[in-house]
This record gives sequence, structure tokens and C-alpha cells, in this order.
Amino acid sequence: MMTTTRNVRVRIAPSPTGDPHVGTAYIALFNYVFAKKHGGQFILRIEDTDRVRSTLDSEAAILRALRWVGLQWDEGPDVGGPHGPYRQSERSAIYAEHSQILVDKGAAYPCFCTEERLAAVRAQAKAVAEGQTPGPSGYDRHCRGIPREEAKARVAAGERHVVRLAMPTDGMTIVRDRLRGDVEFANNTIDDQVLLKSDGFPTYHLANVVDDHLMEISHVIRAEEWITSTPKHVRLYEAFGWEAPEWVHMPLLRNADRSKISKRKNPVSLDYYRDTGYLPEALLNFLGNLGFSIGGDREKFTLDDMIEAFDWGKVSLGGPVFDLAKLTNLNGLYIREHTPEQILQRLREWRLSDEFLRRIIPLVHQRMERLDQFIPQTDIFLAGDLDHAPVAALLVPKGRDAAQTAAALSDLLDALDAVRPFTKENLEPACRAFSEKAGWKTKELFMAIRVAVTARTASPPLFDTMEVLGKELCRRRLRAAAELLRTRKA
Ligand code: GLU
Repeated sequence: MMTTTRNVRVRIAPSPTGDPHVGTAYIALFNYVFAKKHGGQFILRIEDTDRVRSTLDSEAAILRALRWVGLQWDEGPDVGGPHGPYRQSERSAIYAEHSQILVDKGAAYPCFCTEERLAAVRAQAKAVAEGQTPGPSGYDRHCRGIPREEAKARVAAGERHVVRLAMPTDGMTIVRDRLRGDVEFANNTIDDQVLLKSDGFPTYHLANVVDDHLMEISHVIRAEEWITSTPKHVRLYEAFGWEAPEWVHMPLLRNADRSKISKRKNPVSLDYYRDTGYLPEALLNFLGNLGFSIGGDREKFTLDDMIEAFDWGKVSLGGPVFDLAKLTNLNGLYIREHTPEQILQRLREWRLSDEFLRRIIPLVHQRMERLDQFIPQTDIFLAGDLDHAPVAALLVPKGRDAAQTAAALSDLLDALDAVRPFTKENLEPACRAFSEKAGWKTKELFMAIRVAVTARTASPPLFDTMEVLGKELCRRRLRAAAELLRTRKA
């Protein structure tokens, strides 16, 4: 379809607001493969413009996870490059400058509306929508009519404002997508997007477009969920007078029931796959099969095979299903192909490393009288799943029933998701706060947690244990315990 003479430069641009997501690895894989296929560069950029939700811990976890799967970037954090810094929070001056360029061109304008006014406008738009009368949603472009000189004076006087993109109010914006063809958006359905927030930080849209341009990105390969943002981006490229990249919106990964992949139905953190002993090359192979067909019914291939065979014509859009059983099956094929010596090596890279053993020894060694006790005392750290059936009754504190305990453990799962870093110093106050909120005595809650994460009533100190197990295994076991209680009750 489209050809380009530009050097291939692609990027993955994660926001460091949570655990490293399988969706990030999925999109990174296609970017990486496309770059390698064409002798181009694969860039990693950290989009941490959300100052409240972004953390350095999450950023570090993303870098670690991408390295673990084997998708090393050519430019970006740690490795540097000519277009850095690669962390958006260190590029604020660039965005402010570019926002000003748009204002000077009349393609963007300062908006002085207060939160109260915006809330009233939104409420009205909602009322209109509910009344089924078509009308603009969101912002009513109130400040777009302020004469330019007046707006300039108010900005100069220090009046609090944001900067908004002046979207055309009629006509269409066409997104030429490599996989979807031309996708049309009616301009009057698109809000005047905030580009620069009142604290001077950019929104995703401005920072993303400015950086893609300055970093000379030739192809934007990202998840389908961004396609509704793309007309705004197309408009930004036009307004700046820049050549837009080619757009490729990959299909969304789905749960077995076809809903968008979510952590309620599938583990989505890459750390989960690492901790439960999936091999990175098997995971990449599995992700490579989602939406891409290497030919015939062949499902097992290496990264190099994929690069060799890659072509957009082999990518299809029918929502690929993230089938954990399939992944496990494929992983087994890889495991069985290893020699015993290679398995030894793999085990050492996984949890039988000196590093990991050094973390668990202090938790048990004062309770050991013979070396052979080490194994039964530490098996909970080396197993993925535990059998909760023999301890099911112990999960439920006196005076509580199975349903209440299951509900508390499930709620705790969500609360633990936000604990970052997952250290005993953070876990203890989080669990205490949770017990208070849930109206549970800490003693009874802590015992339920202990039984859920270790399948026993006595274990090394609870929060030390949880820290060493890591978030993914803890959550998995809490989920398993809650499910067991639910089915027992039924
Ligand atoms: N920061 C966005 C994300 O978290 C990047 C989307 C894009 O690739 O444009 O996925």
C-alpha cells in the first residue's frame, strides 16, 4: 500500500504507571521485528507526563521486563542516543516551546475556563446526550472565540490556563492505517484537546507527537485503543507542517470471552510470566502468533524466523485471544527441547540463582537444625501454585464465613496491586489500612493472608515472605484461595 523512503525508526512509548504489561511486550515485539526487518532502529521512550501516577519503580520494572523478554532497544533510557533525553518529564521545555508555536500559528489557543465551568459544560453535554439530541460532547470551545491579543495579555498577566488544540469544526480527518486502510473521523466529533496543562506539563497528545517528530519516528505501531487519538495527532502534524509517520494500529489482545485483555481474567504483568517460569523466547513466540501468521499452521518460530518472514500482509485484525493454556503448551515444547544441562542453566536464571537463594536463606536459617530442612521450609518460594485444599478451613477466621473471606481476599488483591515497590515496609501499612477499612481485626486478616500465600499457618515473617515472593505470586495465590472458598461455598 504505502511506501516510504524514510529510514525505519519505530518506538515503544510506555507510561510507567503500573506493572510491565504483556500488551507492552506485544507491541514492542512488532516494533522490534519491523525495525530489524528493515535495518532500522527501535527506540524506547518513557511517557511519564502523568506526574501523579508515574513512578521510577514502574519505569525500572518496564526496562527490566523488556530486557527479560529479549527486546533490547537501540536508543532510550540506559543506552542513550542522539535524541535524548528519552524520558518526557525531562523534556518539558521542548513541549512548552512547541505549544507556543501552535498558539502563534493560531492552531491552538489558551483556555481560561475554570474547573467549575468545565464541569457545568460536561453536565450539560451529558444531559443533551441522555436526551438523545445530538450535540457536541465535552468542551464547548468557549475560549476559542477570545480575540488573540486579549488572550495573549491574559496569559502575560499570569492568568491560569491550559492550551487547547483548535480542531477544525467541519470536514473529516482521515487516518491512513497500514492495516485498516483509510479510517475517517468527522472533525466536529473531536474535542479541542488540551495540549498543555495548567501546570505547564504537556498531555500525552502533544508530547507524543512532538517527540515522534523530533525522534524521527517513521512508523507509529501501537495498540488499536489509540486510534481515536490519531485524528488529533494527524491534525497536530498538519498544524506544525511536519510529515506524519505511517500509522499501524495493532489489534487489541482479548480474554477468552473476547473482552479486552484484563488482569481480572488473565495475568497481564510480564513479571508474572517470569516468576512462574515461562521462557522469554516462548512468550515472544506466543505473542508473535497473536494476529500474525508466519505461514500455514506453523506456530513455533524464533524471533529471527519472525523477522525474516515479517510482512504487514501477514498481520490480521480479528481480535487475537490471549490463551494461557496455549502459551503453557508452547512453553512446554521449548522446555522439552532443552538438554538437562540447559535446564540447569534456566533454573539458575530463574529462582535457583545465588541471588534468590540469598534472599530466602535469612528467612529460614534460624529455624533449621539440619540442611535438609531447607527444602520443605522454602518450597513455598520455589513453587508457583500451592494446594490450598488441605488448609481451606484455616483460611476462614472464626466468626467469618467462606464468602466473606473470599470477598476480603479479592478486595485485598486489588489493594495490593497499588503497593509499589512491593516491599515489607510498604506491605505492612497497606495490609493494616486494608484491615481497618474492611472492618477486620489485623490478626484474623493476617492469618488469612498467611494461609493464602503460603498454604500453611506457620511461615517465615509474613511481610518478608510476601516481599520475596513478589507481587505476582502473592496475588495469584490470594486469587486461588479466594476462588477455592467461593467454589467450596457453592
Ligand atoms: N504512552 C502511551 C502508552 O502508554 C503510548 C501510546 C503510543 O504508542 O502512542 O501506551
